[in-house]
Amino acid sequence: MNSDVKLADVIDGKAFAAGLRGRIATLAARFEAEAGRKAGLAVVLVGEDPASQVYVRSKGKSTIEAGMASFEYKLPVDTDEATLLALVEQLNADPVVDGILVQLPLPAHLDEQKVIATISPDKDVDGFHVTNAGRLAVGQPGYVPCTPLGCLMLLKDKLGSLSGLEAVVIGRSNIVGKPMAQLLLAESCTITVAHSRTRNLPEVVRRADIVVAAVGRPEMVKADWIKPGATVIDVGINRVPGAVEGKTRLVGDVAYEDVRHVAGAITPVPGGVGPMTIAVLLRNALVAAYRHAGLELAPDAI
Ligand code: NAD
Repeated sequence: MNSDVKLADVIDGKAFAAGLRGRIATLAARFEAEAGRKAGLAVVLVGEDPASQVYVRSKGKSTIEAGMASFEYKLPVDTDEATLLALVEQLNADPVVDGILVQLPLPAHLDEQKVIATISPDKDVDGFHVTNAGRLAVGQPGYVPCTPLGCLMLLKDKLGSLSGLEAVVIGRSNIVGKPMAQLLLAESCTITVAHSRTRNLPEVVRRADIVVAAVGRPEMVKADWIKPGATVIDVGINRVPGAVEGKTRLVGDVAYEDVRHVAGAITPVPGGVGPMTIAVLLRNALVAAYRHAGLELAPDAI
């Protein structure tokens, strides 16, 4: 690599998320003053998956730090479907619960799609309900999955208008790739969604002004796939063996050390997209609270 080349700007998701959480806290306090209650987020965890436990704990802590009410429901791994659906229905009907999140993945005996379909679309702050996927597709207000919405916020903060830019999203999952493509389309980008069957992936990626990698393959996106100056958003979180035996480290889907010699801007892993997800979850829950209480919230307030 030529060391004279300017390195890509690092998009600091941690700092952006901290600012976002600050704005959320201000608006959460305003909500409490005007509505006479705190905005409330309920999180349901079934089983004891260690990663899910960490996420749920961190979501609860962040919710409280933002001045919102956190309701945590921890159910045993052998919880049957009827019990889980009854809890979701109870939360749907509870006026102090504005947002409901059921932590995924669920144990194999539970049908995730059925559980998501039971959450009221107006409390579906994860944006996974088909009603919210449909609202996003046709441009109606709803709830957008947190990770891609966080990516969009970082992109707009860095680039301003995205209109007319070529964007390639690698990955077509319902929680990242597809909603990311819809969001970029709504910003008037020209979109390509690449996936495991895409032919000549490096060539496809090379035409992008914006690359969003959401694959789950460590450092798959190489420097020679990137158009010089492109903005690269790395959603991947992959654990790989570290330098010290027995230790692991996190890497993204993008070969960061090489790509930053070519890209104009790039999100690091960790510290890029990751910190945005929970901050956007709080944002969605607060937007839900304002809507439920019939209070005005400017569209660009958060
Ligand atoms: P997923 O497994 O549901 O989807 C992966 C996608 O990658 C699929 O659509 C598949 O077609 C595509 N793919 C697989 N192999 C490919 C290849 N060789 N070439 C091109 N495309 C290929 O994953 P997901 O839930 O969308 O998550 C993707 C990554 O993002 C994972 O690493 C996950 O951990 C991470 N993630 C991070 C956050 C966050 O908060 N930062 C949130 C969600 C997911």
